[in-house]
Amino acid sequence: MRRVSVFGATGSVGESTLDLLARRDDVQVAVLTGGRNVARLAEAAIAHRAELAVTAFEDCYIPLKEALSGTGIEVAAGPGAVAEAGLRPADWIMSAIIGAAGLAPGFAALSQGTTVALANKESLVTAGPLLLAEAATHGATILPVDSEHSAVFQALVGEDIAAVETVTLTASGGGLRDWPLDRLARATPEDAGKHPNWAMGQRITIDSASMFNKAMEVIEAHEFFDLPAEKIAVLIHPQSAVHALVAFTDGAVMAHLGAPDMRHPIGYALNWPARADLPVARLDLARMGRLDFAEPDLRRYPALALAQAVMRSGGAAGAVFNAAKEIALDHFIARNISFLDMAPVVEDTLDRFGAVAPLARAPASLADVLAIDTEARRLAGAVAQARRSRGA
Ligand code: NDP
Repeated sequence: MRRVSVFGATGSVGESTLDLLARRDDVQVAVLTGGRNVARLAEAAIAHRAELAVTAFEDCYIPLKEALSGTGIEVAAGPGAVAEAGLRPADWIMSAIIGAAGLAPGFAALSQGTTVALANKESLVTAGPLLLAEAATHGATILPVDSEHSAVFQALVGEDIAAVETVTLTASGGGLRDWPLDRLARATPEDAGKHPNWAMGQRITIDSASMFNKAMEVIEAHEFFDLPAEKIAVLIHPQSAVHALVAFTDGAVMAHLGAPDMRHPIGYALNWPARADLPVARLDLARMGRLDFAEPDLRRYPALALAQAVMRSGGAAGAVFNAAKEIALDHFIARNISFLDMAPVVEDTLDRFGAVAPLARAPASLADVLAIDTEARRLAGAVAQARRSRGA
């Protein structure tokens, strides 16, 4: 029996992971964690016979305890309990908590030598070098779960990273891809919250429309595959059939194709290094008929230029970028700033942070990363508020 845990079990990636786990009879679920969706966490813990269910919120402890009373499933609550659950013995964990809260359990699991399937983008963007060092120290493996990174990872099997000329991540272009530039300033959260191909939550869907999501993925690829900024490109590909392309120095290009279903990269990480049958739709290229590609327009997607600046700076820049884009997104969703204001808020926050502390100074610990996150959120809030007041 393989012991597995799912952090963020009640979310979109967590649910897809549970769907795959339910089809197997060789796994024992150690821990499931969730946030405020106590009913779903309890239901999943019972269905998967988990040993421990943890909610990240202390005030959810009693409802969770009541929902699991008589089942024999242990219950815990609070961010400390979520992090501690990462220490519980497991062979494989899914790291799919959203936001900076996902960092601590991932670090804890790596410290135990556990294989971590990493969906939580914030981990690599804010603390990439620390995370990789933790894995190396404890002989732990990190497997990418983001579909583009899983695609690159698969294209690199048996290859030498030194022979890679470029890695290209594809992007659908998001819900506003075909809007004229001059209309973008008037885009509402509802407009930006519609994705042409993937079914995801509101925040990540808006991040797709602005390409802040792709910018995060570019930084993730830079950290995970140890590639310099100039070797990572983005191509708009509306059909979302090709997830990534790896070009080698001999002119060969390996492309990874598949239907847009997160259960593929999750399943690959679960079965790695083997492949196993997965219940995902099969790609029908004849039916699709055509695959289109285009260079992204940086006037439309300034987040991509910011990602380049973040990679060149290194150090604290990733953590500042992530925190600032979260705050900018909060303000856009609250209709305080426009869709086009989000990138300038992030850029101003990076500048302001850099004016006080060198951006290139690398955080030395997880505590440092969280302190940078807090400070960058404060600065970004002030920047966004100032733009709102100016009506800029
Ligand atoms: P969701 O918002 O659907 O789920 C997030 C999960 O985290 C839920 O279980 C939620 O609990 C839990 N959670 C929320 N806040 C906290 C907190 N403060 N502490 C602990 N747990 C918390 O996110 P997704 O599944 O979409 O994404 C998860 C991660 O994976 C993100 O980093 C995302 O960028 C990345 N990712 C997502 C992809 C996708 O297709 N959705 C693709 C690739 C990467 P509850 O719901 O109970 O409150």
